[in-house]
Amino acid sequence: MKRRSAIKNLGGLFIAPTLIQAGFLPKSSPSLRIAHLTDIHLKDKFDAPARFAKCLRHLRQHSPQIDLILNGGDIVFDMNKENIGTINDQWKLYRSVWANETTIPVRYVLGNHDIWWNENDRSQATYGKQFSMDQLGLSKPYDSFTQGGWKFILLDSVHLDIDNTWYIGKLGEEQFAWLENELNNTDASVPVLILTHIPILTATNLIEDNIVNKWEMLGGDMHTDVAKIISLFNKHPNVKLCLSGHIHLREKLTYNNVTYICNGAVSGAWWEGYKRETAPGYGIIDLFADGSFSENYIIY
Ligand SMILES: [Zn+2]
Repeated sequence: MKRRSAIKNLGGLFIAPTLIQAGFLPKSSPSLRIAHLTDIHLKDKFDAPARFAKCLRHLRQHSPQIDLILNGGDIVFDMNKENIGTINDQWKLYRSVWANETTIPVRYVLGNHDIWWNENDRSQATYGKQFSMDQLGLSKPYDSFTQGGWKFILLDSVHLDIDNTWYIGKLGEEQFAWLENELNNTDASVPVLILTHIPILTATNLIEDNIVNKWEMLGGDMHTDVAKIISLFNKHPNVKLCLSGHIHLREKLTYNNVTYICNGAVSGAWWEGYKRETAPGYGIIDLFADGSFSENYIIY
């Protein structure tokens, strides 16, 4: 009976099977339910604003309700080397759709498309990450907080490559030392969730066409400091879950007792359908006090 009334409360036949499939209904109630939205890439094309609004409305239908949204970056279509008018339009559009459709609290990390890098013109007010941070009211590009008995660590994945011409996935020394310190100062009984834009670890980049005898993987495809980060996690078994986007493919892999989930993309293939086998969607994760979680990718 309990289960039946829970399904009824979901308010529609469409959403109920998805949630049952996800295994959301059994077990004790979660201490926190989060939605992970990544790679929205919003622009005024392909009906993207209306489809993004639909996605945000879809979030409201869940029961139990979503407590927190983690936005994984690549929020606007693309800022890099764009002119200020285009950049402003993209952010204005994002803020208006968001404000009209949801009041759920949200936390952000920036993606590579939320950064303006033009090495020939560093004088521009748009240079670097500050412009997007101002739009989102962020005081720093990485941060942490505690909610529902879990520690959340939001990392800044995107940095210029050594030759200053393109980005790669890494933390850099200062942020790595900060992360080390954060984990050292977190009680070992508190489970940790880590959010990045670029995956710390992923196998999705191995799905490549026309491989002859080797795969090509770029430093922008995955964290180049993966070994260093994994060896740090090895000292902190309370690190349970790493969420990322960037690849626009849905993937879940476990290495050394840490689960790495790449949660597709709200925009799918930049609002033009599926990216390979992955439909436009978002992740829902129920976090439990004992450090366990259940999750699913939701096609909205
Ligand atoms: Zn990206």
